[in-house]
Amino acid sequence: MEIHFLGGADEVGSLACLLRNGPDEMLLDYGMTPAKPPRYPRPAPPVDHVMLTHSHIDHSGMIPWLCGRHDTRVLATPMTFLIAEMLTHDTLKIAEYEGFPKPYGKEDIERMRENFEPVLFDEVIRVGDTEVRVHSAGHVPGAAMYEMVGDKSVLFTGDIHTIPTGLVRGAKPVKCDVLILESTYAGRDHENRQKVEYKFLKKVEEIVNRGGKVIVPSFAVGRTQEVLLSLANSNFEVWLDGMGQAINRHYLSMPEFLRNPKKLRRAVRKTRMVRSPRARGMALKGDVIVCTSGMLDGGPVLEYINRVRRDKKSGILLTGYQVEGTNGRMLQEEGKINLYGATQEIECEVCSFDFSAHAGHSELLTFIERCDPDKVVYCHGDNREELASQVEGRENVLPVEGEWLDL
Ligand SMILES: [Zn+2]
Ligand SMILES: [Zn+2]
Repeated sequence: MEIHFLGGADEVGSLACLLRNGPDEMLLDYGMTPAKPPRYPRPAPPVDHVMLTHSHIDHSGMIPWLCGRHDTRVLATPMTFLIAEMLTHDTLKIAEYEGFPKPYGKEDIERMRENFEPVLFDEVIRVGDTEVRVHSAGHVPGAAMYEMVGDKSVLFTGDIHTIPTGLVRGAKPVKCDVLILESTYAGRDHENRQKVEYKFLKKVEEIVNRGGKVIVPSFAVGRTQEVLLSLANSNFEVWLDGMGQAINRHYLSMPEFLRNPKKLRRAVRKTRMVRSPRARGMALKGDVIVCTSGMLDGGPVLEYINRVRRDKKSGILLTGYQVEGTNGRMLQEEGKINLYGATQEIECEVCSFDFSAHAGHSELLTFIERCDPDKVVYCHGDNREELASQVEGRENVLPVEGEWLDL
């Protein structure tokens, strides 16, 4: 078997990996990087199948292009596909709003829908002559790892988390000869999740008690629901605005992909929904507003921040990694953000909480140990070397884009 990265080898973005097993050629993920301007992977050659690990844009964003261009079949879990399709429409809207060229059209999304082939966890399928096994990745509901079995067994992780979170159980290791591993958190470990949630709720309480409002910018897919689950253990008046509402509905429509659907249903029921721009005033009378976008680069969150930014009693609680060049990173580093074209000082309190859905450095090391591969291929991270340098007795490979690599 051979692989060839078309994108995302050494960055957290645009993941795309071409795999060849004899006459069979297939793609694993075909994502884009939603930066300004957006970045895309190299153009894929005609392939019959793409196996999509999960719905996040950096894994799924360019699937419509692939379907429109090459009529590629899309293998994914039903949960992944439902959300990926929704995000493709959002990508078109954002491109239009921000004035960037659209990477594909509505007819390509239509083709993607026609070409969808559902897969389920623990299922064994055939892609050409290659046997493929589907495993849960523990990252967000529906996220899968794919194990290709030819003369060797090769596990492609996509994004993984190995400890249980509110939404999903952790990924279990899979014995394999070659492990193609995401390395987003190489070199960084997470604080214990329960501790993070405890500190988060304490901070919310502190802000509410001093008469402030709490704004929680959160990614719509996964993070918003983790935050709502955490807030459901309190009695604050919580409002939700933005795309997270639709994701809640999608998650609850397929409870078989959730660790505890009852808990999520209860958390959503306890939350008040902002269903119109007018309701934003009402939300600001409550205690907490959970809202997209997670990195403050658009979405309704900007309106809330604009309303509270001079109020020292209020607080913005960031819940995810803030990528360089985003408003969220500028807020963390300089206490400012770009609001409607002008840079503004933010006077309210700003805190960051690590609600990550990725395995941390030590968890990745343990995962490698337990999969026990001869060869580890590190991808999808900008600090892969640090992880590879701590793995002994195995062949460590740091692939570069545009090169075929013999497995
Ligand atoms: Zn992801
Ligand atoms: Zn990713």
